[in-house]
Amino acid sequence: MDYRDLPIRDDLRELTPYGAPQIDVPYPLNTNENPYGPPPELVADLAQAITEAATTLNRYPDRDATDLRKDLADYLDHGLTVENLWAANGSNEVLQQILQVFGGPGRSAIGFEPSYSMHRLIALATATEWISGLREGDYTLDAAKAVRAIERHQPNIVFLTSPNNPTGTAMELDVIRAVVKAADEVGAMVVVDEAYFEFARPGTPSALTLLPEHPRLIVTRTMSKAFAMAGARVGYLAADPAVIDALLLVRLPYHLSALTQAAARTALKHVKALLGTVDAVKAQRDRIVAELAALGLPVVPSDANFVFFGVPGGDQKALWHKILGHGVLIRDVGIPGMLRVTAGTESETTAFLDALKESLAVVD
Ligand code: PMP
Repeated sequence: MDYRDLPIRDDLRELTPYGAPQIDVPYPLNTNENPYGPPPELVADLAQAITEAATTLNRYPDRDATDLRKDLADYLDHGLTVENLWAANGSNEVLQQILQVFGGPGRSAIGFEPSYSMHRLIALATATEWISGLREGDYTLDAAKAVRAIERHQPNIVFLTSPNNPTGTAMELDVIRAVVKAADEVGAMVVVDEAYFEFARPGTPSALTLLPEHPRLIVTRTMSKAFAMAGARVGYLAADPAVIDALLLVRLPYHLSALTQAAARTALKHVKALLGTVDAVKAQRDRIVAELAALGLPVVPSDANFVFFGVPGGDQKALWHKILGHGVLIRDVGIPGMLRVTAGTESETTAFLDALKESLAVVD
């Protein structure tokens, strides 16, 4: 039976599910994971922490994940405490909870595209109207245009992504400040998605610095990228304590399993080793940018662990297939003429660059 024959909500009929291909290939460079697995000491500690947590799995976990939130507050610093933090199964669940509380039928959210496609998808899945704002040709956000869009549409939620996915573009604090001010004036919440913040180039400011003056600002982060814990599914946010109180209205009881909480807390004890991989990833990112530019491809400067680039001749589907033929899976996000590649280890990155060069010779 086709699912559309079932009595699903009418507003879901036009949607297509999130579908980054999960293909078993030697070089998976398509979902912006950290190419380095957790270090052996962490793996050993995880086994112990999970064993301990397993002895009390007959009991529900701490509903409020208090200890984990405290550890996350310590990691973020910025004067934040447990009351400012919230955690869930990946930042996607955090985003969904935000939309469940502040969006919904009769409400709207705006994002500036191209950006992370799940902002729109989660908005639509929660019956929140989606407004597509635009970025400039170089993928930066023009503050004045963003402010005008907020004034015109009066959304309930404004999404900013910095560094942005799929372009890697980080946002100036002045732009975020202008957007937050405009949002405050129309009573909207602002979500700054900083999933890739740890990869930003030195000096890139975090929106966390704006939290003290802006009770409607929410900054989301994840352990899926720099922390190399995508499989554990842990995302979190920092905001005014009132925001977290509001999220309690929609979170499912015991949403974050005892095993997840134990794994996340254990990983946070190894922050130094985990974040020790960030510089190596950034070096490969910078290498990709430099090599693609040397090949004459249009390439977008990146503050994330991936690179967005233009395809000669504009047929990104053909080039994506050719590169896949070499065992290298990168990402076609559906933007004509553009592809995105995640920075891998040195050898993975070499495999991508070799595959690209050979594929370009064939496509042309
Ligand atoms: N935000 C952005 C900008 C992302 O790119 C991603 C993952 N691709 C997420 C949030 C969600 O990550 P997770 O649910 O694994 O925390």
